[in-house]
Amino acid sequence: MNADLHCHSTASDGTLSPEALAHRAKANGVTLWALTDHDELAGQAAAQAAAADIGLAFVTGTEISVSFAGVTVHIVGLGFDPHHPGLVQGLRETRAGRDNRAKEMAAELAKVGIKGAYEGALQYVDNPELISRTHFARYIVDIGMARDTHDVFRKYLADNKPGFVPHRWAKLGDAVRWITEAGGVAVVAHPARYGLTPTIEFALMSEFKAHGGQAIEVVTGSHNVAEFAQYADLAREFDFYASRGSDFHSPEESRIDLGQLPPLPTGVKPVWELLQ
Ligand code: AMP
Ligand code: MN
Ligand code: MN
Ligand code: MN
Repeated sequence: MNADLHCHSTASDGTLSPEALAHRAKANGVTLWALTDHDELAGQAAAQAAAADIGLAFVTGTEISVSFAGVTVHIVGLGFDPHHPGLVQGLRETRAGRDNRAKEMAAELAKVGIKGAYEGALQYVDNPELISRTHFARYIVDIGMARDTHDVFRKYLADNKPGFVPHRWAKLGDAVRWITEAGGVAVVAHPARYGLTPTIEFALMSEFKAHGGQAIEVVTGSHNVAEFAQYADLAREFDFYASRGSDFHSPEESRIDLGQLPPLPTGVKPVWELLQ
């Protein structure tokens, strides 16, 4: 099984359409695919139709922005009913703050000499409800203020950098509930990325599980080889299922392409056992 259960389209901050991603996944040998746009389901119907056309097994997906202990954490949902009213409404509310946040980010960036960043970022946005830091990063690269998008985050957009604006996202329990009540599986995305202390990470995993969360990403484009092993251990410790996903955004920007990650470590339960 070559499952790739995490990637982004133009419905959020990816650069390829859902159809193009489906074809790319198929060409790369993916056998089970999910599109997981940030806080958004707008690409799901097109992804599902394109996957069906080419005989690629598809499950619905999204990646919900959550605030936990002052940190932004991402919760992936897989295999839910995309028309479930609670999920649809919860995602709508989560998207709602993005436009004002983007205007505040532009005001902060102007103070460090990057003018017109809101209008600039909008040129890269396909879905007006989903302006993200990634769109600002693409604009800042294109005006020559940074080498690549990673450099932009390092200089301007990461936590505590001049263009970072703290934001209140969804609550952990709400995000897990929206997913599970829609019949889906909740997954902690790229857990190594948050830089949590062991104590806060334990609290995150315990609360996630108590709310009905069932899985964590073990093999993701955001983890190194040591972290694959570390989070396989954590999955066993908490009796979580393990997920695998590239987090592919763009052929130009992403380090790992669709379907190109190593397999899950042995001895973990693959999350796709819950998705068939
Ligand atoms: P937002 O949801 O607007 O806060 O944007 C978050 C997105 O920014 C993530 O989903 C990534 O696509 C991107 N991102 C975050 N950190 C980095 C980084 N260090 N380098 C490149 N992209 C990043
Ligand atoms: Mn992203
Ligand atoms: Mn993420
Ligand atoms: Mn992602």
